[in-house]
Amino acid sequence: MPCAIFFPADYKIGMANLGIHYIYRALRELGVLAERFFASPSPFRSVESDTMIERFPLVLGSISYEPDVIVFAKWLELAGIRAARERRESSPHTRPLIGAGGALTYINPLPLSGICDFIILGDGTKTARFLVQVLRSGHSREETLSALAEHPSVFVPSLHEDGRHSLVTAKNDISEDYGRSTWIAKDSIFKDTLLLELQRGCPNGCRFCTLTGCFSPVRVRGPELIERDIDEAIRVAEFSRIGLVTPEAGDYRYIDALLDFAEHRGKSVSFASLRVDNLTERMMKALVSGGGVTVTVAPETGDDCLRNICGKRFSNEDVFEKLEMAAHMGASSAKLYFMIGLPGETQEQVMSIAALCEDVRLKTGLAVTASVSPFVPKPGTPWAGEVFAGEKKLKVLFSLLSRSLGGVSGVKLRAAGIKEACVEYAVSGAGPEASSFIARSVLSGISYKELSRLSDRKETEAELSRLGLAFPHFKKGGA
Ligand code: SF4
Repeated sequence: MPCAIFFPADYKIGMANLGIHYIYRALRELGVLAERFFASPSPFRSVESDTMIERFPLVLGSISYEPDVIVFAKWLELAGIRAARERRESSPHTRPLIGAGGALTYINPLPLSGICDFIILGDGTKTARFLVQVLRSGHSREETLSALAEHPSVFVPSLHEDGRHSLVTAKNDISEDYGRSTWIAKDSIFKDTLLLELQRGCPNGCRFCTLTGCFSPVRVRGPELIERDIDEAIRVAEFSRIGLVTPEAGDYRYIDALLDFAEHRGKSVSFASLRVDNLTERMMKALVSGGGVTVTVAPETGDDCLRNICGKRFSNEDVFEKLEMAAHMGASSAKLYFMIGLPGETQEQVMSIAALCEDVRLKTGLAVTASVSPFVPKPGTPWAGEVFAGEKKLKVLFSLLSRSLGGVSGVKLRAAGIKEACVEYAVSGAGPEASSFIARSVLSGISYKELSRLSDRKETEAELSRLGLAFPHFKKGGA
């Protein structure tokens, strides 16, 4: 049974996503001929066998991030497959079955409902067994979809419209999941690195973040599993580094034992991002001795009070203290993540980002990169109902910030795209109507204004409730 797995980004980025490692391995172990496709460099030919996409009767999109929905729809159209589900349903020709899974399905799967025949909700490796059983049973397309709709974590938009079903986002026991990379991909952005999952879900409940509301309960892989995974990987592959996949490495209660174990095995360790308040000397030592010259932390804002409202309980003094420690241990640069357009944020608070970066530069001597992105209110977070700043205001805030940082030597500003944030906001609140609109108009060009008009968050919330997928925080806003 050939199955195309599509990742809506470059191969290098896709190979750094553990979800695609897991689903590929699950399908292969079930005897499915899964092959990978990436948006680039060769979008319509599989990585494994250079086979054209039209040979695959089943296509699964791995969708992590809201703008990926648009990339997926466009890729389908360019591959000669109608992105709009209704258009495929009315077509007399044989057409592939289109499914999707991935991180977006934990937050709001509705942006995919106008595109996909079925959507796997949440952790997909166990549901994959059911999917393969149904597909193997040789039913017609309609019977296959009816059978899939019987699973509580498979959303079949054409059949779940009747309001009789209650869906559940699957949250597996992660000690039963694979836990580590399927490949050590040479060309990945994490070269020569074994990806290792430590924890899913986060207990910290920052008001802007989906990790607590959508991905919890917190599930932790114990040290015996981690050690087994490292040793098994050492037996079959060559790698020099272990990339820890977890919301915040300092929250992982066995982190010191894991760092000792990796050191014993001669492997360095890398962390995606470090939370300032639980960053220990041991973690910093592991990072710097592994050749990590850049320390990445996320203060979110330069203002202690606003940071506290966001849910992050540390001060600028804590940022200086930890980065000074990093500089003493041999780090040469720091990357600081910030957001602008936060609820209630003043212009002074935006400028506090520049002041914090300048102070870090002066006090630690580290080269500083300020990576700034707009705040996007997401479903499933306490700030879901907050106002999105919008293009005009964001432009003003970004230019204010870049003026404040202008001329500060040793500090670079890296600003995320405002247009992309607008699309992210519109898609994050999209329901079935907006999803069909994306699918129908993706080739001719999507009007952001129209997409925003159709992404009615109240209706989306009602639809998610009807499906049993609403979050307690979806409509609550504010601190
Ligand atoms: S921002 Fe970090 S600490 Fe806060 S909830 Fe998200 S993952 Fe957890």
